[in-house]
Amino acid sequence: MRYTKKNKEKLNKSKIEGKIHDVVIIGGGHAGCEAAAASSRMGCSTLLITNNVSKIGEMSCNPSIGGLGKGHLVREIDALDGIMAKAIDKSGIQFRMLNASKGPAVRGLRAQADRKLYKKAINQFLNNEKNLNIIEDEVIDIHLSKKEHRVKGVILSKGRIVPCGTIVLTTGTFLNGIIHLGEKKTKAGRIGEKATYGLSKTFKKLGFKLGRMKTGTPPRIDKKTINFKNLNKQPSDKTIIPFSFLTKKVEIDQICCFITTTNKKTHKIIEKNIKKSAIYSGQIKSIGPRYCPSIEDKIVKFKDKDKHHIFLEPEGLDTNVIYPNGISTSLPENIQKKMVNSIKGLENAKILQYGYAIEYDYIDPLQLSNTLETNKISNLFLAGQINGTTGYEEAAAQGIIAGINAASKIKKKNKFILSRSEAYIGVLIDDLVNRGVTEPYRMFTSRAEYRLILRSENADLRLTSKGLEMGCISNKRGKKFKEKKSLLEKIKKKYKKITITPNKLKEYGIKINLDGKKRNIFELLVFKNVNRKNLERIWPNIKNIPNDIFEELETNSIYKGYIERQVQDIKDLKKEETMMIPDDINFNKIPNLSNEVLEKLNYVKPKNLNEVTKISGITPAAIINLLRFLNKKKKNSFKNKKKWIA
Ligand code: FAD
Repeated sequence: MRYTKKNKEKLNKSKIEGKIHDVVIIGGGHAGCEAAAASSRMGCSTLLITNNVSKIGEMSCNPSIGGLGKGHLVREIDALDGIMAKAIDKSGIQFRMLNASKGPAVRGLRAQADRKLYKKAINQFLNNEKNLNIIEDEVIDIHLSKKEHRVKGVILSKGRIVPCGTIVLTTGTFLNGIIHLGEKKTKAGRIGEKATYGLSKTFKKLGFKLGRMKTGTPPRIDKKTINFKNLNKQPSDKTIIPFSFLTKKVEIDQICCFITTTNKKTHKIIEKNIKKSAIYSGQIKSIGPRYCPSIEDKIVKFKDKDKHHIFLEPEGLDTNVIYPNGISTSLPENIQKKMVNSIKGLENAKILQYGYAIEYDYIDPLQLSNTLETNKISNLFLAGQINGTTGYEEAAAQGIIAGINAASKIKKKNKFILSRSEAYIGVLIDDLVNRGVTEPYRMFTSRAEYRLILRSENADLRLTSKGLEMGCISNKRGKKFKEKKSLLEKIKKKYKKITITPNKLKEYGIKINLDGKKRNIFELLVFKNVNRKNLERIWPNIKNIPNDIFEELETNSIYKGYIERQVQDIKDLKKEETMMIPDDINFNKIPNLSNEVLEKLNYVKPKNLNEVTKISGITPAAIINLLRFLNKKKKNSFKNKKKWIA
């Protein structure tokens, strides 16, 4: 039966009447969908309650999944049998491997999605979940035990109580949401959808610390009115690598995106009207995502740049809507039009929907434990943008962890916590719950100190066996994973024993140091001039090793030395945490620190390394750079002293 306004009540009632659900998920965004699917996979009776069922799996902003750091999260979600990777493989219309020329640890898979197909795929996966029911309603409050320390249920818009064991709350940008477009302010959770107020009151009443953040979206443009003639094309990769470990091939047609830029005229229009933008008129006071700035921010902060890139990204195969990535704005409608029409290729472009900014409440994540359960109220888990993050992938990653833990609590199983050395998801959650946020948190590879280990292609080897222990992995994935793992072990064992001397190697045209040392293939792959092709000349059976297995073995061999150094760096850091930072230090002299890190160090002026590790936004790589700088400084001053004594 399809949802209609008339039968909504009947359908809702039939799904919740007389039942105590194990897990209730509030919200059908990216966090909510993963949480619901995970809880259902673990065999818990799960109820997803969302404002509008037709918006389940909606991409609020850019229809794309993955990117640097984010692509790793998607692979990890997939390794735990989540749905995001499979959904983008069914809906991706332009796949690209970012940083393809760099090492495997920092490459990031990204795909432009057909918005409708992505939503369809997510809904299909949820509909196939045996233990999951979905109803359309607004949750206005949480029903608590008498002493208010444990959840007992949720309260719906008409006051009905739905009893449950645990709750995962994933309301995204909807808490007290306000949309800003120039001077216009509209109460909304997303364009055309009403905001949520009851739950903010609940959190305040319970003594939670709340904050305010903002994000924004660009205007959408009618493809028929764009002149693509002189714009640069950006095609999909020739060889498409799917996101999911279960996808053999991406079948969907691929399209091109196009690139244009802003120009001096565009910048003048924005500068002249900057005070009319909600962000610069003083109307919005909250902080937005640093790495996804509005075009107004770019013009103000990067005055020396005379152009900024804009990627014209189709929102689907059968739509004329184009997403101009790079010009998120809250300028008034007439200025948005002038700005858009000043851009090459967009001279006659028609705007289908104006850009806007949105402000919303978030809950300070320092009030959560590593399972994403709140410290104040037991059995209440929070996931997604409500915890101060931004992005679909960050939301989905938290959703799957909260869903697994909410279900585990019902099943009286162990907590599911991933450490920083096991997963990017571990880094994300550790950063949130131990360092908190000062601006919308987004994932980057630089946030992970163990990034050489946390590669996207080995996410299954790192996480699927953990998922199997928790019971959140389907039989199909479990079987495929076990086969891969046993083949990998077999090949490792076999080829470890087979060795060759440098002299013999020379006979096959491969030159390395003639040191007489016998080496196996893993030791040989460390040499720049040794690769799969030339090793196949010596051992033709290597041809039979599947690509993914060979690449895993090869990367591990190449990275072995670097990984050992990385582990040592982290050990050193732990030992030196109390190291004092001299008052006269000039942070700007430390090499390879980003502007964000410098800004924060100069602002906080930490007294020792331990204080540095607690500053939100300071990456582990930056701390290691600082440690090396301090050690060097110490050595130099020691040398100078010795000279002086002599
Ligand atoms: P959402 O996807 O927001 O889903 C929340 C869900 O909760 C919705 O289904 C809603 O209906 C439901 N809900 C809310 N309240 C209730 C209630 N009381 N009862 C029942 N259901 C409820 N991310 C980026 O990475 N880059 C960007 O440029 C970017 N721009 C954005 C621009 C805009 C305008 C918006 C709105 C978001 C943007 N985002 C961006 C953020 C991205 O959309 C979110 O990070 C992501 O969607 C968060 O997922 P979520 O599951 O936490 O919440």
